Amino acid sequence: MEFNQYDTNALLYITNRPPLVFTEGQGMWLTDHNGKRYLDWLQGWAVNCLGHSPACIQEALTAQAKKVINPSPAFYNEPTIKLASMLTQHSCFDRVFFANSGAEANEGAIKLARKWGKLHKNAAGENRYEIITFDHSFHGRTLATMSASGKEGWDTMFAPQVPGFPKAHLNDLASVEALITDKTVAVMLEPVQGEGGVIPSSKEFMQGLRALTSKHGVLLIVDEVQAGMGRTGKLFAYELSDIEPDIMTLGKGIGGGVPLAALLCKEAYACFEPGDQGGTYNGNPLMTAVGIAVLETLLAPGFLQSVIDKGNYLKAGLLKLCDQHGLEGERGEGLLRALKLGSPIGPKIVELARDMAPTGLLLNSPRPDLLRFMPALNLSLQEIDQMLEMLSAVIKQVKA
Ligand SMILES: *Cc1c(COP(=O)(O)O)cnc(C)c1O
Repeated sequence: MEFNQYDTNALLYITNRPPLVFTEGQGMWLTDHNGKRYLDWLQGWAVNCLGHSPACIQEALTAQAKKVINPSPAFYNEPTIKLASMLTQHSCFDRVFFANSGAEANEGAIKLARKWGKLHKNAAGENRYEIITFDHSFHGRTLATMSASGKEGWDTMFAPQVPGFPKAHLNDLASVEALITDKTVAVMLEPVQGEGGVIPSSKEFMQGLRALTSKHGVLLIVDEVQAGMGRTGKLFAYELSDIEPDIMTLGKGIGGGVPLAALLCKEAYACFEPGDQGGTYNGNPLMTAVGIAVLETLLAPGFLQSVIDKGNYLKAGLLKLCDQHGLEGERGEGLLRALKLGSPIGPKIVELARDMAPTGLLLNSPRPDLLRFMPALNLSLQEIDQMLEMLSAVIKQVKA
């Protein structure tokens, strides 16, 4: 393929893309249109939990495509019922709604909480609809999920916002309690903030939130679109704090690269009635068949432990880089980690790493002073070593 063969301006300009087209991917590796290879530590932003084009996904897609692709959400299909049963069996939830994106799953969670608030009115007999969310949180790019997000500048970007999302501070229980009123219906958070810079909630905070929300009769919603599906070394991140939330959303890793997301809730909050929620592609069997293949891989004996082990190995390597280059530190859970650079050199590192020859390295810098690591969960220790080695060379170059 020639890069100039097509007009890239045919696409809306929504992000700065480098003049590269990726034509092939395998595991942790991507190949561009010039044949150059890149070690990919983005993996579609924590989406490709089993790496690029794993055999189990290829097989699930082709086998299901030969059977039936779209019987319509008005009817049951086998992969969708099976995946829902697997998810309820391995979580504290009882009911599942499948969606196509994390934002859509979160919209569903917001609607479910508001519906429940309509059914459980406050003392004055009015609907409860406010959902307390957090500074620096990220819940998606639809209007409601942008309003729920605590990303700087988003409150005015497409004003007016969808109302009803007061913001508290993560790991500060008093800031949550101060916002609870008779309009509050839920608290929603990412157990590990991803886009915000890989900031884990402490176990005490999660347990405190559970107690606080129960005390006030308010729902606890966890957005595990990024931190769920084995990313932290637990199948679901809420397990890290030994609590049971009321509602959870999944996305990214659940489809291993195909558009699949889910909204899960406990039976007591399953208050949608026919007509309240839906979508043309919800529970599309081509996607849920992939979801089954991914979940079976994550549940195989030893897999989640290997994520913890590799996370610790990565952590040790990042701490060594801190020592070598005088960086600030690292944080994270499992294979969702961040390196605190101590100065705003992230974007420069990303660019130089990508342009390294003969092999490039793809990294992510969600904030100028931070790098975020979200590799395939089944990567090898050598691929961790290789990244650390390449990154060390780039940091040396940037700091020179
Ligand atoms: C990526 C992400 C979303 C949005 O998911 P999309 O599939 O991009 O809509 C929501 N919440 C969290 C925590 C995410 O990381």
